Amino acid sequence: MSIFSVMTAMARKYNAINLAQGFPDFESSQKLNELVFKYMQKGYNQYAPMAGVPALRERITEKIEKVHNIQVDPDKEITVTAGATQAIFTIISAFVSPGDEVILVEPAYDSYQPGVEINGGIPVPYPIQSPDYQINWEAFGKKVTERTKMIIINSPHNPSGVTLKDEDYKNLEALVAGKNIIVLSDEVYEHLVYDGKKPLSILQYPKLRKQSFATFSFGKTFHNTGWKMGYAVAPEELMIEFQKVHQFNVFSVNTPIQFALAEYMEDPQTYLGLSQFFQEKRDYFLDMMQAGRFKPLKCEGTYFHMYDFSAISDEQDTDFAARITKEFGVATIPVSPFYHKTPQSRVVRFCFAKQKETLEKAAELLVKI
Ligand code: PMP
Ligand code: GLN
Repeated sequence: MSIFSVMTAMARKYNAINLAQGFPDFESSQKLNELVFKYMQKGYNQYAPMAGVPALRERITEKIEKVHNIQVDPDKEITVTAGATQAIFTIISAFVSPGDEVILVEPAYDSYQPGVEINGGIPVPYPIQSPDYQINWEAFGKKVTERTKMIIINSPHNPSGVTLKDEDYKNLEALVAGKNIIVLSDEVYEHLVYDGKKPLSILQYPKLRKQSFATFSFGKTFHNTGWKMGYAVAPEELMIEFQKVHQFNVFSVNTPIQFALAEYMEDPQTYLGLSQFFQEKRDYFLDMMQAGRFKPLKCEGTYFHMYDFSAISDEQDTDFAARITKEFGVATIPVSPFYHKTPQSRVVRFCFAKQKETLEKAAELLVKI
């Protein structure tokens, strides 16, 4: 079972505050909710076009232009998906055949490895480590073989909260240049970068972009993870291959929500204000946590913040996370399950996409540990 399900079940069982699984405890915007209902009532209730509703693909194009200053063709380079999870699985299914190797940066989001294995591929983990979780590109390059079919990266990175820098993308560009390797760049937390940094996307690197997919999540962006809406962006030749699979694993996704998102996103403030909104939450929680013995690691992006608990206990992170859920009433996510070979770990991840009162109550309990 996924660690997110395990810890959320434990939070329920012990009636603990859930700072574990990554979802907000505040509402999706009332305006957006009403737009969904409006389109349902207007009768937009049948299958959408396979690639997604044109108006939404246009809005996505505008958003990418506003945020990254890049042109994307809404008709040829975008497919709307059932969350980023489906996009990721579909990309892997479209390109990975039995025996192909896929390099994953670990700690890795939990759907990557099973997605590769279900398609007969061989996951090749590249571990990054606490406290700074940087990629050493020389060591990373040694993982590339003749059988490497895909490289999966994720920035802003779940769970570490670090972001790839311009130099990282340039190193990756040099590494895959001229090779028959697809890069899958998981960018679901694209807007959540802090301290005045600009979000970077693989789409900004023209050479790299030619052999890459980028995946995004509306659920993460608009606080409605339960709607399971997202999209993938790639050059036309790659998107054609993607859609060969997409048309048979889902065909198309929720029609009224697509229309609603298209209208909602006419106002760019709906996404441009997110960085400040979440940075305030990160800092609010961090401030309160300074009174305790958890040591914060660097959090440059995502809505997760990792904390080292070695001043409190020498338990393995999974045992510690289970114990504090039961004894102190706060659920977190241990980091070791994000690795295929469980490392020793004294780090847990807190999700700060929560109302101030929730963060306050949680911090009050945590600083006593
Ligand atoms: N990638 C990462 C890194 C994530 O944290 C998540 C979490 N939801 C996803 C993909 C999946 O996104 P979605 O909920 O849109 O399927
Ligand atoms: N992305 C979320 C997280 O990292 C969880 C998604 C899920 O539960 N599958 O917490």
